[in-house]
Amino acid sequence: MKLCFNQATTIGNSTLEKDLELCEKHGYDLIEIRLDKLREYLAIHTIADLKAFFQSSRLKPFAFNALEWVNFRTPADWETLMQGLDLFCEVGKEISCDRVVIVPTPDVGNKTIAEIKASSLEAIKAIDSRARANGWPMKLAFEFVGYPNLCVNTFGQAYDIVEAANMDNVGIVLDCFHFHAMGSRFEDLERAAKDKIYILHIDDCEDLPVGAARDEHRLWPGDGAIDLPRIFQILKDKGYDEMASVELFRPEYYEMPAEDTIRIAKEKSVKVLSPYWQIG
Ligand code: ZN
Repeated sequence: MKLCFNQATTIGNSTLEKDLELCEKHGYDLIEIRLDKLREYLAIHTIADLKAFFQSSRLKPFAFNALEWVNFRTPADWETLMQGLDLFCEVGKEISCDRVVIVPTPDVGNKTIAEIKASSLEAIKAIDSRARANGWPMKLAFEFVGYPNLCVNTFGQAYDIVEAANMDNVGIVLDCFHFHAMGSRFEDLERAAKDKIYILHIDDCEDLPVGAARDEHRLWPGDGAIDLPRIFQILKDKGYDEMASVELFRPEYYEMPAEDTIRIAKEKSVKVLSPYWQIG
C-alpha cells in the first residue's frame, strides 16, 4: 500500500515546492497535486522544473485535484473548468500523471437523482473527450462529497453513476470523511469492484450528526468518529492495496509549520493503515 499526500492537508501553510520537498524527506510514496497550488508553482517555475524534481525523487505524482462542480454548468463556466483540465493534461504528459479527481456540484436546486445522474454522465463523457483531444487520456476519479447540498453525496449514488458510465477509465474516489459524513452504506462499499476504486482518501472526523460535518471538522486519521477499521477491512477483503492519500482541511493544522503537519499526517496514517497493509 503506497502512502500518498493530498495537498489540501497543508493548503494554508505550504506551497507545492515545499510539499514536494517535505513529502520526499518524510518518505511519502505519492502526492496528489492541487490545481491552485500548481498554478502558483508555475507562476515562478516551469513544467520542466517539476518534471526534473520527480525524475530525481522517490516521490511520484498520483493524481490532480480537482475539476470541481461538473454538473449543470453554463457554457462559459464549463470552458473555465476545461482550461483546468487542459493544464492538467499539459503537465500530466510531462510528469506521467494521468489521473484527475472530478467533483459534483452543490446547490443544484430541484434536480432528481435521474437528472443528476444524466448530467454527471454527460460531464464525464465531455471531460474524457477533452482529455483525449489534448492527447492525454485521463483516468477520471469521481468524488462524491458528504454534504447535504451536494448533488452526489453518498457512495451508493456515486457508484451507480460510475457503473452506468461503463468506461474503463472511470472510477470512484472513496473519501472516508465523505463516506461517514452522509451515512453512506457499508453494503454499497462491499459490492463495489476493487478496480473501480481509483483513489482512497483517508482522514477522520469530529463526532457530529449525519449531514453536519464540514471539511474543517476533519481530524488526523484515528483521532475521530469514522469507522476506519470497518472501511479498511472491506477494502482489504476485496484485495485493494493500491494507495491511501491523507487529505485533511483542518485550519488548526495550518497553524503549525508545514513540516509538522506532513510528519504527523504520515505517523497517524501509518498507524491506522498498518494493521491492514504493509506500507510502502
Ligand atoms: Zn477527498
